[in-house]
Amino acid sequence: MNLIDGKKIAAQTRERIKAETEELVKKTGVTPGLAVILVGDDPASAVYVKNKTKDCAEVGFRSFEHILPASATQEELMSLVGELNKDTAVHGILCQLPLPKGLNEREIINAIEPKKDVDAFHPSNVGKIMIGNYDFLPCTPAGVMELIHSSGVSVSGKKCVVIGRSNIVGKPMAMLLLHENGTVTVCHSKTVDLKAETLQADILVAAVGKAKMIKADMVKEGAVVIDVGMNRDENGKLCGDVDFEEVKEKASYITPVPGGVGPMTRATLMQNTLTAYKLAMGLE
Ligand code: NDP
Repeated sequence: MNLIDGKKIAAQTRERIKAETEELVKKTGVTPGLAVILVGDDPASAVYVKNKTKDCAEVGFRSFEHILPASATQEELMSLVGELNKDTAVHGILCQLPLPKGLNEREIINAIEPKKDVDAFHPSNVGKIMIGNYDFLPCTPAGVMELIHSSGVSVSGKKCVVIGRSNIVGKPMAMLLLHENGTVTVCHSKTVDLKAETLQADILVAAVGKAKMIKADMVKEGAVVIDVGMNRDENGKLCGDVDFEEVKEKASYITPVPGGVGPMTRATLMQNTLTAYKLAMGLE
């Protein structure tokens, strides 16, 4: 088994972004900026936003945190997005999801200027990804592709099984694997025989949200196993959808949780912000 070290690859990605940012800022005099909107006091979301601010500082971006109370109205949020769309210091906009109940997420996402939509959730960006001619890729699936590439295993012609079909992970993940000529199956809660599907996978991506549900007897010998899941086990410890201790014996390459997909997702957000900046500055 070879461990795919997401932490290390993410650190290398940030180094590369930092070096490129330094060059571009010297040339243009303008620093890339990421605005992050956080509504309410969900502790996990607050941690994610803090991490994004930290990553921005590390790669040399400006970050703008907009923290609104859970009582914020749809109108207030829409008006903030409108302002950020116009703000030339802001190249990327991200609204931390989920939003508190009563707020319409889709309307907010749709209001973000597509060229600043560094999460790539706007329908125009989703459509571009489908066609294969895009500015940004959603952070988690794009990070997963980087991790697969790091293993040196080519996706072309491989049987790829994605478990999960969310708009954020599963669906775009399947599309990116397809773009690289994988033969892709997408499984979900209505899949009749999950094990029969996963056993076919040369590349298995689990994005479900159920602690350690993928066991060794569900994995083909030598498969590349990517674990997107972020769950708590019975002791409250962070774990993935894959039973790592069992599955590592069968996989040729495997990502750990923590230290796999999570750090790469964060690094890809920085990459997307740099891309948004280059688009705005006419450098792309
Ligand atoms: P969702 O809850 O939106 O989607 C889960 C998917 O899993 C659904 O498509 C669902 O099927 C499917 N599913 C549920 N139960 C089963 C089952 N028993 N067998 C097969 N499929 C099943 O989750 P997300 O896509 O947002 O996230 C998935 C996981 O990835 C979570 O643990 C999340 O925390 C993590 N995550 C990690 C990130 C990272 O950076 N590391 C980033 C984003 C997410 P159906 O559609 O039929 O309901």
